[in-house]
Amino acid sequence: MSILIQNVLLNDERKDIIIKDNKFSKILDPTDSIGSSDLLIDGTRFAILPAFYNMHTHSAMTLMRGYADDIELHSWLEDHIWPLEANLTEDHVYHGARLAALEMIKSGTVFFNDMYFFPYGTAKAADEMGLRADIAPVLIDGMNAARAKEMIAYAQETIDHSGDYSSRVRFAVSPHAIYTVSAETLKRSFALAQKENLPFQIHLSESQTEVKNSIKDFGLRPVQYLESLGILDSNVTAIHCVHLDDRDREILKKHNVSIAHCPASNMKLSSGHFDYVKAKQADIKMVVATDGACSNNNLSLLEEMKIASLREKAFSGDPTVLPAREIFDMTTIKAAKAAGLNAGKIEEGMLADCLLVNLDHPTLVPRGHLISDIVYSANPECIDTVICDGNILMRGRKVKNEDDIIKGANEAYRDLIRK
Ligand SMILES: [Zn+2]
Repeated sequence: MSILIQNVLLNDERKDIIIKDNKFSKILDPTDSIGSSDLLIDGTRFAILPAFYNMHTHSAMTLMRGYADDIELHSWLEDHIWPLEANLTEDHVYHGARLAALEMIKSGTVFFNDMYFFPYGTAKAADEMGLRADIAPVLIDGMNAARAKEMIAYAQETIDHSGDYSSRVRFAVSPHAIYTVSAETLKRSFALAQKENLPFQIHLSESQTEVKNSIKDFGLRPVQYLESLGILDSNVTAIHCVHLDDRDREILKKHNVSIAHCPASNMKLSSGHFDYVKAKQADIKMVVATDGACSNNNLSLLEEMKIASLREKAFSGDPTVLPAREIFDMTTIKAAKAAGLNAGKIEEGMLADCLLVNLDHPTLVPRGHLISDIVYSANPECIDTVICDGNILMRGRKVKNEDDIIKGANEAYRDLIRK
């Protein structure tokens, strides 16, 4: 399968772009182009941009969108979310993840790094919808080390099922947090990720309560506790990291850990102030994520980029902090790199993930400041076409089976709250 996108704007220049199989095969001046392909797209109205990579989600939590708003983190989890999640089935998760995939495609996202229950439901949805995903079953042993064996067997079983899905979908390893998972399970799950050469993600240092309890229970701050267990490396994505001191930042940098910054979720749950400026000064890898739709409440990385940038400017008192290009790179090329993908840039030989944005959409007019407009002005409606792995997932803002996805999600929600 080949696609020719003719006369499209790429970095302020008109180009013809040929996608062959799942890669950008040629980028040519329109005068040099041969012009034959299985599918021709007239790019005159469009600019081509890299697609977005969401580095932390609980995708099926779309079913809980709006379910428990305006509540403190620990009460939000213990009194509202966990009791409802006790009734979840794989079918609920499938329909919730399909809804998440639809929302992500419509807002330009082609990859998500997921942590949740019933990972086969999420994997089936991601595979059917044509997205890339790292999907980890969330490991929670209730601080009971005797359950470590069962937890690792569960994670291993999902990894062993990887071959059942497209190569776009991969199973990964993800204990929930240091306050829900015993040291034994933490250590053994990390060893499993290293053995299988897979990503490892964990919520870390999200709230003051977590830090206070970590010092009380383990005598160490959360980052330092994980280091003491030997659980930090370049394949680790530490989610939130709102509360860090200088020593924590040194440790994260030393082990080349990525921080998944979730600004909307952190603000909505009043988790505290993630000091982006200090993390940047410490030269720590940073990417952006929405977190689940229950603590955001949407999965739009367009919105997340704007929130992240405005938030840093407001907290630091410096409007030059986290400029548009920097947050755009954290959501595209840097995120793709952290996910181990040769993607995130429109370049010959790279994976064919991209967006065509409508240059006549009011939020992108007048032309001339595209990256600024995307970060500060755009809404998802300006995205006309989404391509992932050389396949068209959305064109003219239409995604296949939309009505069926919405109907399935509404039915799954009604069934979940009835239980
Ligand atoms: Zn999370």
